[in-house]
This record gives sequence, structure tokens and C-alpha cells, in this order.
Amino acid sequence: MMLWWLIACGGAEPSDPTRSEGLPVPAVARVSEVGGAAPSPPAETVAAHVDLHVDTPTQMVRRNVGLDDPALESGLDDMRAGGTNVVVEVLWPPREPATPAAWAAQVERLFAKVEAEDKRLDSVAIARTPTEARAILAAHQTAMLVSIEGAHGIEAGGVASLAGLHARGLSLIGLTWTFSNHFAGSSGDAPAGASAGTGLTADGRALVAAANALGVVIDVSHASDATTMEACALSSAPVIASHSDADGVHAHARNLSDDAIRCIAQKGGVIGLNFHATFVGQPANVAKVADHADYLKKLGGAGVVALGSDYDGLITTPAGLTDAGDLPSLWDELRRRGWSESDVRGAQGENFMRAWQAVIDRATH
Ligand SMILES: [Zn+2]
Repeated sequence: MMLWWLIACGGAEPSDPTRSEGLPVPAVARVSEVGGAAPSPPAETVAAHVDLHVDTPTQMVRRNVGLDDPALESGLDDMRAGGTNVVVEVLWPPREPATPAAWAAQVERLFAKVEAEDKRLDSVAIARTPTEARAILAAHQTAMLVSIEGAHGIEAGGVASLAGLHARGLSLIGLTWTFSNHFAGSSGDAPAGASAGTGLTADGRALVAAANALGVVIDVSHASDATTMEACALSSAPVIASHSDADGVHAHARNLSDDAIRCIAQKGGVIGLNFHATFVGQPANVAKVADHADYLKKLGGAGVVALGSDYDGLITTPAGLTDAGDLPSLWDELRRRGWSESDVRGAQGENFMRAWQAVIDRATH
């Protein structure tokens, strides 16, 4: 797969059956609408509280509910209660059947659901840049970013092309899910402890370059250690691990090696603390999640710490962090451990906003 193809084709191949599903003009970040009649504070006065990974779109589609459904772990009321005002809504394509068409159909279904919520609810709007997100925050709304967890269908073209998805509002791309694909090796195929596993393929290197050129954030959560290190070294912009914990606190193939933590930090990226008890380790509670935060801070500095809860992803939540409304207890625990207010603010979201801006600033396309 050539780089030019990844960047250039925003439209479908003429014979592509997904063409009929169309690529509507991006219904994104209606910034002109978010100012409203009431005076808004300057954008920079609203601190970003970012959750880098929720599977809420999958739950909304499965249950046929909206973002205001109280049963969601990261629904509107919970996010308001816990302070989250920027949320990465993840489109999770299927592993089986592992066909580009199945991938594209599921991405379309989930993307359309997020767009429908953007239209239906006055209190949320899709953001494609930090500037758009800041404007949405200034209007006291919640900014939704769109990500895809697993690039395995991108070869489909049309709806599946990275450029087309970016034009529609995609801000982040996860290289793999739990299995290796034609771009990259996955931690799901690597032994625990994670220094094994295949890395980026030639197509994977082209995908990294294409994402850099477009200003799409590269997400290495789920990737093998080799993929993570190669993507981190190759990328011209910060890379992130949206929902990954530290292998040094709890050994698990899904958690990041010390080298990966250092590389992501040195690159200016961030790592979102994952709340799934399997990755957090026992006892899965607020203190154990804070142990991961302390470890990331020790290895990579406070600027690498972020949050990617994995809420609505059928996770086993830690005691005291059962939904997005519980997040203040984590921040209080970090303060209790001596984190400065500035470091807490960074972990709450400003670190990601910095990394995201750097990705946008280095885009060339
Ligand atoms: Zn995941």
C-alpha cells in the first residue's frame, strides 16, 4: 500500500459497495453554534478533562440508547458529575469477519451514531482540533473526539480510507486491536512481558506517515512492544497509548514496558490510565490505579500521564471507580500522594491537549 494512496483517496473506489453509504460533509464541531447568545468565558479558562478511551458508541448501538442513557458508564450525567468535558468516543470494528467490508460497515454504523448524538444533543459536539475543542468547552459543552480501535480494514478504500475518515471527523487511529493486522503486530499475539511480537510492516510505516501528514493522532494501545517502539521512533509527532497501564506495576501483555513508557514520554505523547481490573492488577481500586499513575510519572514525568478509562468496554471496574462520575476520587488520591495541582491538571487532560496540538502543528497535508 502506497503512502500516496493512504493520503490521497478520500473517496471510494468506483466499484466500492460502501460508496452507497456515502461520506456526508463532516457534521463536526459546529463552532459557530457553540458560542450562543450568553457570554462565554475565554476558551483558555476552561480546563480540559479528557477521557481518551470509552466504548460508549458500541454500547449505544447495541442497546439502541443515546449518550444521555443513565445506564452507560460514561453517559452525559456521569461525565458531568465527574468533570469529563472531552471524551474520545471509540469506534470498535469487528475482528470477525475480518473483511474490509465488515470493518467499514461497523465503522459507518458507529460513526453515524456519534454524529447523530452530536446533532440530537445541544450539550455535545464533535471536535477535530484542540481549537474546536476549546471553543466547545468555552460554551460549557462536552467535546467528542472520534477514534477507531484497530486499523485492519483501512485497505477497503472509500469509507475506510484514513483521509476520508479524517475529513469526516476522525482524530485518532489505533494501529491494532487484540490481533496483528497488515499494518502492525498486536500485544495479543505477543507473550506477557512484551518484548516480543512483530512490529510495523511496510504498510504500517506508510500508515504512520499518512497519519502524521494528516494530523491524526497515532494510538499504540493494544500494539506489541515492537510496534510501539517502532511507531514511537518513526512518528514525526507525539504518539499516545490511549488506554494502557504499566507493566512495571502489574505484568500483563496489554501493559506498557518501561522502554515504551520512556519513548512515548520523550516523544511528547501521553498514556491514558486504563481502569480494567485485569490490567490494573489486584487489589483493583483507586490506590492501585494511582500506583500506575505514580509509576508513569516516575519514568516519563508528569507530562506523560493521562486517562483512558475504557468505560462501557465491558471492563471490570476498580472499586471506587465504577463510572465517569467517580473520577474525582482518583484526582484526590493523586493530590494526597503529593501531586501538584499543575500535575493533576495535566493528567486530567491538559497533557493530551498539548500532545494533540503538537500532532496538528506537525501535519503537512
Ligand atoms: Zn481496547
